[in-house]
Amino acid sequence: MKLCELFGKGRTVFSCEVFPPKRNDPVDSIYQTLDGLKDIRPDFISVTFGAGGSQVNQTTRDIAALIENRYHIPAMAHLTCVAAGKEDVDRLLADLKSDGVENVLALRGDVNPDYPPKPDFKYASDLVSYIRARGDFGVSAACYPEGHLESPDLVSDLRHLREKVDAGAQHLVSQLFFDNDDFFRFLERARIAGINVPIEAGIMPVLSKNSIQRMVSMCGASLPSKLTRILARYGDHPDALREAGIAYAIDQISDLIAGGVEGIHLYTMNNPDVARQIAGSINSIRKV
Ligand code: FAD
Repeated sequence: MKLCELFGKGRTVFSCEVFPPKRNDPVDSIYQTLDGLKDIRPDFISVTFGAGGSQVNQTTRDIAALIENRYHIPAMAHLTCVAAGKEDVDRLLADLKSDGVENVLALRGDVNPDYPPKPDFKYASDLVSYIRARGDFGVSAACYPEGHLESPDLVSDLRHLREKVDAGAQHLVSQLFFDNDDFFRFLERARIAGINVPIEAGIMPVLSKNSIQRMVSMCGASLPSKLTRILARYGDHPDALREAGIAYAIDQISDLIAGGVEGIHLYTMNNPDVARQIAGSINSIRKV
């Protein structure tokens, strides 16, 4: 199933993101994550793609195949192109196809000094049109409610997003954000710019002060004062921060759904208990 077919069915799409186990974690830990997520029945699960290296990319493919074939949940494999040539992409797509994975999140990725850029794809839009031309895959792309860090301004970022959609992206997933007004303003600008594909809101529950500060510095998301207060008060108390972070995410999601968003994409950080708690609290909300 192509993911764009999930939208417009009278309920909010709910999807989850997982990442391949880190180098020192047992590969089997992904089973625990997926076993925990399967009861939530997300509409699809996406799997992130490492900066490079065949081993990392093989793992993304393996996990996507597992989600699709063992858990019978649609999978979306992330695929970055900055360090990939056409042959690399062809090989990966052929593997995904043979595994029954039908959906790809086409990304440029960030330059990593260990994997020098290759010239075949400069921007994600180049990868989007390349994959769409093959005709086999549903193609999604990333968007940035507060603008991409490299963009000089929101207008050029939106113009390039429109190019990505014109190149064939059928569905967009947003970068994490903590202030829903940023997302609603972005959504309005996108619609005015003629971007009419479904846009899912990316939500990351705040569970650790350090990791959220690292994440925010990497992606440029701003922290509203309500969240800054939570971090200041509970940041050194993991159990309290976990409760407050989950409550914040649920509040964000119910407000987004009330505002009519078409989909929620939960960055699970491979923590199925947190995902279950959040999903359990929005079950009826999603169906309204
Ligand atoms: P692009 O759409 O190519 O945009 C990159 C920058 O170039 C933007 O500033 C854009 O405005 C600009 N631009 C685009 N086209 C043009 C043009 N024609 N001329 C001039 N400027 C242009 N990274 C990973 O490594 N692995 C992952 O699995 C992963 N998953 C992600 C999932 C989501 C939902 C999101 C939001 C991001 C993810 N990323 C991942 C991070 C992403 O790779 C980085 O944010 C990267 O810097 C940009 O990727 P992009 O696909 O958005 O790039």
